[in-house]
Amino acid sequence: MTPNTDRNQDLFDRARRTIPGGVNSPVRAFRAVGGTPRFVQRAQGPHFWDANGKRHIDYIGSWGPMILGHGHPAVLEAVQKAALDGFSFGAPTEREVELAEAICQLVPSIEMVRLVSSGTEAAMSALRLARGATGRSKIIKFEGCYHGHADALLVKAGSGLATFGNPTSAGVPPEVVQHTLVLEYNNLAQLEEAFALHGRDLACLMIEPIAGNMNFVRAEPHFMRRCRELCTQHGALLVFDEVMTGFRVGLGGAQAHYAQLLPGFRPDMTVLGKVIGGGMPLAAFGGPRAVMEQLAPLGPVYQAGTLSGNPVATACGLATLAQVRQPGFYEALAAKTTSLMQGLGQAAREAGVPFCADSEGGMFGFFLLPQLPRNYGQVMKTDGAAFNQLFHGLLDRGVYIAPALYEAGFVSAVHTDDDIAQTVQAAREVFATLAR
Ligand SMILES: *Cc1c(COP(=O)(O)O)cnc(C)c1O
Repeated sequence: MTPNTDRNQDLFDRARRTIPGGVNSPVRAFRAVGGTPRFVQRAQGPHFWDANGKRHIDYIGSWGPMILGHGHPAVLEAVQKAALDGFSFGAPTEREVELAEAICQLVPSIEMVRLVSSGTEAAMSALRLARGATGRSKIIKFEGCYHGHADALLVKAGSGLATFGNPTSAGVPPEVVQHTLVLEYNNLAQLEEAFALHGRDLACLMIEPIAGNMNFVRAEPHFMRRCRELCTQHGALLVFDEVMTGFRVGLGGAQAHYAQLLPGFRPDMTVLGKVIGGGMPLAAFGGPRAVMEQLAPLGPVYQAGTLSGNPVATACGLATLAQVRQPGFYEALAAKTTSLMQGLGQAAREAGVPFCADSEGGMFGFFLLPQLPRNYGQVMKTDGAAFNQLFHGLLDRGVYIAPALYEAGFVSAVHTDDDIAQTVQAAREVFATLAR
């Protein structure tokens, strides 16, 4: 394709004149891998078509929400019907109650829930609530976990454990992150030390139980057990950020998975997003009644939103949940994801390229590494140049994976065996170019 007929490039050039970097969320700009972002024209099922009319097999699915694929007929119908009844009222609606009931039923640790519009907003609000409910200020987060872009969470580890984090963004004053302690994921010794030093001041420990923002890294069961024990012992709330994993790795989210490994396990609070909106701006946070009742208008912790519980978004979320709760949904989804990972693994082995992969439900991660990483530092040991070559090789062949090696991937319920076979074949061709 010659440059002057590349509509993706034309749109990107035009976008950059009025939108910073040409995008409304930075990862879309392809900075990590270079090249021209694909502007999406339309999508159907597991595919989207870019501005040049080229088809791609989509393994991002809007970064997780599109678990049913694009344009699922039942979801589409629910959204169209809801839109006819009105876009937004700023007054309560029946569907908000239905969605809250569905979430409380499907995620047993959640007794009450509040709906918001983005994962960032949900995590930020959960943090405020944890601080308000405990009367404490300090929080623990882990390196490589992403909880949206609230100021207090844009932080990286400081120079030592006794010190608190440093902002990762300009515009975040150091004082705003002075209560945020950043630990290494899966590092038991650091966890013990942090609670020993700061336990009485900790409002909460926030964690992605299966981290999807440093590619795909699981919290090890003994580590998770210790997080639970230490939080209970010190009166801090264990907050699961399941914005990505909720209704993506299984019906009850990652917490249902850990409850199987650790009988009786549950977090105190849960943050949800992505799949619960089915592609519409909708997120939520919930937990025990006693904690949730600290929220305005019942309690002293303020939280609000003009578009919260939006009637079109709740219709989309409810219709999506109605599909995923059908028996066998996650078994079938997990089988597709596993078969994709196995196919890619086989192709890499044939080419002699180091490769390993992990997945749960419809979420996966693969690494150009000989063994699975346990934390962010290990993830970042991936050969970036090789990943970029793989990314662009796949993209040329119509396979769209995340444009950064520290992002997870997603399979939908409508990816077919044929999509997976095409993906594996594309990878086989690209791996052959990577092998030396
Ligand atoms: C995507 C994500 C968020 C942020 O959600 P937004 O809707 O993008 O604000 C927070 N936490 C996790 C784990 C996420 O994956």
